[in-house]
Amino acid sequence: MSEKKSFEVARETLKQLTARKLSPTPLNYQKIYNEIAGISHVPHFPADSLREIAQALPAKTPGQQKQKGLLEYAIDRLNWEGVKTALVAYGGFVPPASGNESGFSAPTSPSPLAPSTPPVAVPALTSEFMAQIGRLIEYALPALGSDDERFKEQTDGLLKALRNPGTDITVVKAMLVNYSHRLSFAAEDQAEIKVALLKLLHLVFENIAQISPEEQWLKGQMEALMSASSPPLSLRRLDDVESRLRDVIFKQKEAKERTVVAQNEMREMLAAFIDRLSEITQSTGSYHEKLEESARLIEQAKTLEDIAPVLKEVVGATRTMASDSRIARDELGSMRERASATEVEIAKLHQELDRVSTEARHDPLTGALNRKGLDEALDREISTVRRKETPLCMALLDIDNFKKINDTLGHATGDVALNHLATVAQECMRPQDTLARYGGEEFVILLPDTPLEKGIEAMTRLQRELTKRFFLAGNEKIMITFSAGVAQLASGETGIEAIRRADQAMYLAKRAGKNRVLGA
Ligand code: GH3
Ligand code: MG
Ligand code: MG
Repeated sequence: MSEKKSFEVARETLKQLTARKLSPTPLNYQKIYNEIAGISHVPHFPADSLREIAQALPAKTPGQQKQKGLLEYAIDRLNWEGVKTALVAYGGFVPPASGNESGFSAPTSPSPLAPSTPPVAVPALTSEFMAQIGRLIEYALPALGSDDERFKEQTDGLLKALRNPGTDITVVKAMLVNYSHRLSFAAEDQAEIKVALLKLLHLVFENIAQISPEEQWLKGQMEALMSASSPPLSLRRLDDVESRLRDVIFKQKEAKERTVVAQNEMREMLAAFIDRLSEITQSTGSYHEKLEESARLIEQAKTLEDIAPVLKEVVGATRTMASDSRIARDELGSMRERASATEVEIAKLHQELDRVSTEARHDPLTGALNRKGLDEALDREISTVRRKETPLCMALLDIDNFKKINDTLGHATGDVALNHLATVAQECMRPQDTLARYGGEEFVILLPDTPLEKGIEAMTRLQRELTKRFFLAGNEKIMITFSAGVAQLASGETGIEAIRRADQAMYLAKRAGKNRVLGA
């Protein structure tokens, strides 16, 4: 276009702006100028303004950071579609994959980040390395959640590329760079979700504790729940949270029913009391009327004979009044007795419920699981064994000469000994192990992911620990020992059968001189 021609075009453009009654904005000017000059109209890309907008956007959450990054990427490439996608996603909506504007490429087309160098052949070692990375990604996936469809698609694309020996290594490299960027956001998201869920859980626990602040049992349970649900979390601790929460729910239900019964009883008694009160008021009312009438008759009486029937009347009324009062007093007395009997009954019920609820899954003396808790834990562990095909050991241990401790030091010291064993065992065990009180002074320990020799080693370690740690009965140092049998769950065997084998091995350990561990 010559200098003159462009001047003429400019003049014609101004004319047209006036003729079409368009406001003289730079955009309108450009549009008509292009039209007259015969230049196809390419809308202006306001990169600088968009960049300013991108800079002003907050990037507080990983999601925001990610979309802000993608927005800047699209602006640099003057990519309107990319800008649109990033902004929409920033606002909370992620549209389904339609191209490469997210910065992530499908394995078959080159990534926008990939340099346009010719494909590089993948050496054998590298292909093994890529397969290893693929496996690593696959193993890590369950930890990253499965809600993000787009992330899943990208993972599938990357895995496909990693497994394909013909993939250009530079493409894989670019894909990995993009993927790790996205992965970091996904991991952060999961961590934030976990923290938020824990906060919610604590909020619920705090609220439950506040519903009945006078319930000591509930308070203790809620404190245990708070600490069990504090990081670091493990599946075992979460199981503990679940079973304790079940106990609390059970207890709350019982408490509510009990309160309703007590309220009804009190309501009935109050109604009876009001009835009696109104009867007394009525009878005293008629007594007063009779007395007034008698007083009037006495005033008018002239002879003693006139007074005699009046007096008879008064005595009769007084007697009726006295008998009414006595009946009322007796009835009120019996009502009071019934009220206090109900109160005692409620207190007893309360204690009983405390005991029953606490014992629902945990042994109240040692805090270990009870038989019911053990049954549930066994079911869980055995289903894991069937799923993951990992070894599961169970140990049955019985305190040596426990009767002697009871006999010589008293039952209370025996209880301390049981508690001591449970505490030391809990501290020695791994977080995934489970301790249950099987009977009086017998305990079962479930050792997941443990073959027989390791199970025996673990019990021997506990034995050593117990010999190092004594407890005090008054001034006396008491050391306890135990005999144990360990069985590894055989295929097709039930948990009860394996415990029975462990019990037989424990019995042999006793016969062999006690204070020892034998494998079944
Ligand atoms: P062994 O070495 O052969 O196991 O001898 P032992 O004395 O430990 O054996 P036994 O099983 O005969 O005795 C267990 C005793 O444990 C009997 C029972 O009174 C006592 N016991 C059971 N439960 C409790 C409890 O909760 N507290 C206390 N203090 N004693 C308990
Ligand atoms: Mg025993
Ligand atoms: Mg014993």
